[in-house]
Amino acid sequence: MKIIDISMPVSSETPLWPGDPKVELARYSKIEEGDGVNVSRISMSVHTGTHVDAPYHFFQKGAKVDTLPLDVLIGKVQVVYFDDGIEEINASVIEKQKINWDINRIIFKTHNSIRRAVENQEFDRNYVALTADGAEYLVDKNIRLVGIDYLSIGLFTRPIKTHKILLKAGVIILEGLNLADVSAGEYELICLPVKLVGADGAPARAVLIA
Ligand SMILES: [Zn+2]
Repeated sequence: MKIIDISMPVSSETPLWPGDPKVELARYSKIEEGDGVNVSRISMSVHTGTHVDAPYHFFQKGAKVDTLPLDVLIGKVQVVYFDDGIEEINASVIEKQKINWDINRIIFKTHNSIRRAVENQEFDRNYVALTADGAEYLVDKNIRLVGIDYLSIGLFTRPIKTHKILLKAGVIILEGLNLADVSAGEYELICLPVKLVGADGAPARAVLIA
């Protein structure tokens, strides 16, 4: 069994969505200053690094992250690779891929991974992502979870519709995946967002088991 960690490290160097609060991770209790223990506190957006979006992110009456079904967050997943020429994942480029639609979790590896975008502190507006018609295509195929190798499932210039189509249909969105060392194929996914009560999203540790 091989475990591949597809999570982003969280630190002050983690790339952030423009305008998001800075990551503050620091110790307030320090052994070297005479305290009995080291203890840290953290302050950041729940959409920092590898994280899950809940429907409440876009819908006032949508489900919160602590109520998302764990049986969707754990299980068989298919990693699909789109090569360098693909700048957006729309219905027609998805259609051209050999995809086993019996697996209802899908993760997209794109050029974002080839240029290691999640490892670069500077935000990259030209990241590859899913269009609205691509999102509709996935919903039609009964996909329950979709993941992507940058900070948003939707394109920078038009992220909202893609999110709304997916979240309205109850598709769990997994963003900020580090897929640089992952090949296309079938894996077991384990992705467990922190149980933040009432939140619109939560950071997660995500792994693939080969
Ligand atoms: Zn998010």
